[in-house]
Amino acid sequence: MSSNPNEIQIHDKSFEIFITRDEIRARVVEMGWELSKDYKEKNPIFIPVMNGSFMFTADLVRACKFDSELMFVGMSSYIGMESTGEVSINYGLDGQLLKGKDVIIVEDIIDTGTTLNHFIHTIEDFEPASIAIVSLLLKPTALRFDIPLDYIGYKIPEAFVVGYGLDYDGLGRTLPDIYQLTSGTDEE
Ligand code: 5GP
Repeated sequence: MSSNPNEIQIHDKSFEIFITRDEIRARVVEMGWELSKDYKEKNPIFIPVMNGSFMFTADLVRACKFDSELMFVGMSSYIGMESTGEVSINYGLDGQLLKGKDVIIVEDIIDTGTTLNHFIHTIEDFEPASIAIVSLLLKPTALRFDIPLDYIGYKIPEAFVVGYGLDYDGLGRTLPDIYQLTSGTDEE
């Protein structure tokens, strides 16, 4: 166990503080203002991608100055710290409700973009009026798809992160701050 208060242990890995709760709060408020400028005359439908975006979504919708609908969708593509490359939509998507609506997909993090690319194409089939993407985090150097990235909280390097909704094998989601895998930790 580390004696450094900025360092935590989850399963077999050490993580150090990366983005604090105060920094997150300030950035999420800014993102809420940006969305409020663009959606002030509209009632969009947020589609948070579960489980990772639950905390971000709860803060973001309260920072938005417009009324909106919510459709929580369960998706998975990661096992441990590795993307499987296979995306599955597990629950929550009711496509009939999206026709003619302004859709805002809410992601915790975009890494390769595989999950989002798959999801955007799925949503397009339901003929919404518009589709925008909001993600708290983006790893730009990992991105492999041409995705419209409208609202991004932070661009970060390719290290694995946990906290504020993001997990490592089920744990770490409830941490209020975001942590990064400690350099020197073996990623294998
Ligand atoms: P992508 O499909 O863009 O490669 O990966 C997106 C999904 O992978 C995210 O929604 C998240 O579930 C997971 N993911 C990608 N990078 C990380 C990371 O650094 N930490 C955690 N906890 N999950 C990640």
